[in-house]
Amino acid sequence: MSEEKKLTTASGIPYYHHEDTQSAGPRGPLLLQDFILHEKMAHFNRERIPERVVHAKGSAAYGTFTVTHDISKYTRAKIFNQIGKKTRLILRFSTVGGEKGSADTERDPRGFALKFYTEDGNWDLVGNNTPVFFIKDPKKFSDFIHTQKRDPRTNTKSPTMTWDFWSLNPESLHQVMFLMSDRGTPYGYRHMHGFGSHTFSMINDKNEQVWVKFHFKTEQGIKNFTNEEAIRMKGEDPDFAQRDLLEAIDNGNFPRWQMKIQVMTIEEAKTYRYNPFDLTKTWSQKEFPLIDVGVLELNENPRNYFAEVEQAAFAPAHVVDGISYSPDKMLQGRLLSYPDAHRYRLGVNYEQIPVNRCPYAVNNYERDGAMRVDGNGESNPNYFPNSFDNIRPDEAYRGRPMELESLTADWYDRNGEGENDHYSQPGIFWREVLSAEDKKNLVSNVVAAMSGIAGPKRADIINRQLCHFFRADIGLGMAIAQALGINVEQAMGSVRHEQPVR
Ligand code: NDP
Repeated sequence: MSEEKKLTTASGIPYYHHEDTQSAGPRGPLLLQDFILHEKMAHFNRERIPERVVHAKGSAAYGTFTVTHDISKYTRAKIFNQIGKKTRLILRFSTVGGEKGSADTERDPRGFALKFYTEDGNWDLVGNNTPVFFIKDPKKFSDFIHTQKRDPRTNTKSPTMTWDFWSLNPESLHQVMFLMSDRGTPYGYRHMHGFGSHTFSMINDKNEQVWVKFHFKTEQGIKNFTNEEAIRMKGEDPDFAQRDLLEAIDNGNFPRWQMKIQVMTIEEAKTYRYNPFDLTKTWSQKEFPLIDVGVLELNENPRNYFAEVEQAAFAPAHVVDGISYSPDKMLQGRLLSYPDAHRYRLGVNYEQIPVNRCPYAVNNYERDGAMRVDGNGESNPNYFPNSFDNIRPDEAYRGRPMELESLTADWYDRNGEGENDHYSQPGIFWREVLSAEDKKNLVSNVVAAMSGIAGPKRADIINRQLCHFFRADIGLGMAIAQALGINVEQAMGSVRHEQPVR
């Protein structure tokens, strides 16, 4: 046992009475002067910070990214500039819709949020375990998430809201198909892939730019729960994924993922048959093959969950030189909203919290604010330009201008020809990717998930969603209709689009 330490208050004052409050005589009322009681109670009352509005339940681990292949022809990012180069990182996994205490095995996408501590600053790649998402415009995000949360009256989860929204937003179909497959209930966090999901860009040392998608292929192999197993595990061990990750790393069984990229040139993007910046679409790997980059290994558990996981803050806006954004509308929306969420949840100085802090030099003129703990620039100038310090913007980091279209797009342009094919890729997914077993389970998972749709709009919602399944593939539509016991001709006749389906 290590040397004994004295018990102290938060201000370092040693004290003795930790379990009994000063009172007026042994049986009398308590004395106001026992400030240690107030300190303990007051701090306890303030232990909870706002939970994340999405991705509240999560687990994280530190690890290392090692470059195995040279991609310097695409990017000058220093993290990739040498084969064998290692970069420390933290990876936070999560479910999306549930609260902080919800079960890990819920049917839900899984967050896959990376922070690489690179010498050019922290690079956050904040993705999911699926390559696509339910919507392609961030203005729909809060509406969508409301449908994943609790009904405002019943305070219970509502399959009615969920399927109502999906059926009115057919762009969600691709992600709904992934979610309803058994990959919607992964066996913990180690046995699933990760995706940067958005289209990003890479810029090389000649200032040439390409569009890029990031993929992380699990080396543990894909493993999923069936719907029944996932439901059972919610009761047996709601923290299954947290425990599984923690124990694997504690036992030296370090999980690994292979980082790969897909690359599309600017010219190719102009003529690709899908909008390459549409988050509801993938880029075919047959046309844009995966390119090996490196290996990511998780090998260190955080020592304190609150300090290092609850306070970990990831922001897709944080890209480093050699990596940049794209016009992907969902990415553009997230550039603003993630740092905004952290400022609300953790405070304006959230990047000084050790897990978020860049381990390399940080030099700027941002000062003050709640919980400033890094010396606040000490006596150095707090304005720029100034005649006293030697901090200078470095021209090497000037970046590359992005070509833009000159007119704002109206609703018609945004949803015009070629932008609204919500069905081809879900159809390919059903016909060419899923095995017979996968298909069987997807159908039964849809039926189980739809069983909770209630109320006077039940038939409308189901029939409208059924139309989307049919549009993706007649066999898929028939299989689901049959499993739901629906007479297809009757159902199709009754579908009324009360709102325009966009
Ligand atoms: P490919 O045949 O080249 O790729 C199919 C992809 O699907 C592979 O990445 C495969 O990787 C993945 N996959 C296999 N089984 C499943 C499953 N049960 N659930 C989810 N993904 C699975 O074809 P394309 O690239 O042309 O894509 C065809 C369709 O595959 C797309 O329309 C899309 O629906 C789906 N898909 C595409 C991805 C992409 O980035 N292009 C990524 C994932 C899915 P693995 O077996 O390692 O998971």
